[in-house]
Amino acid sequence: MSFLLPCPQCGPRDVYEFRWGGARSRRPAPDSPRETWVAYLYLRENPAGRLQEWWYHRMGCRRWFLAVRDTRTNEVAHTFWAPRAADPEPTEEASAKPGEP
Ligand SMILES: [Zn+2]
Repeated sequence: MSFLLPCPQCGPRDVYEFRWGGARSRRPAPDSPRETWVAYLYLRENPAGRLQEWWYHRMGCRRWFLAVRDTRTNEVAHTFWAPRAADPEPTEEASAKPGEP
């Protein structure tokens, strides 16, 4: 099923220009227990609803970004660049709109 995905750099494009990178998750601390690493690497929640996920614009700017997408309807609420490590975690409301750097 095709839908438009707004790349923060290039604007709305057909989803077939992109590679899906999976749901966004927080990397555990290096000294986390083995079970935490197993869950981080192999277990997925696959929710029915809004999900923050990675996308790669392979046929455009060739950059990774994040999108909030409803997995039931493929409606994309918004897309944004990943925060730098020193930045605070973004909230959905505080994220940049498509087209903004
Ligand atoms: Zn792009």
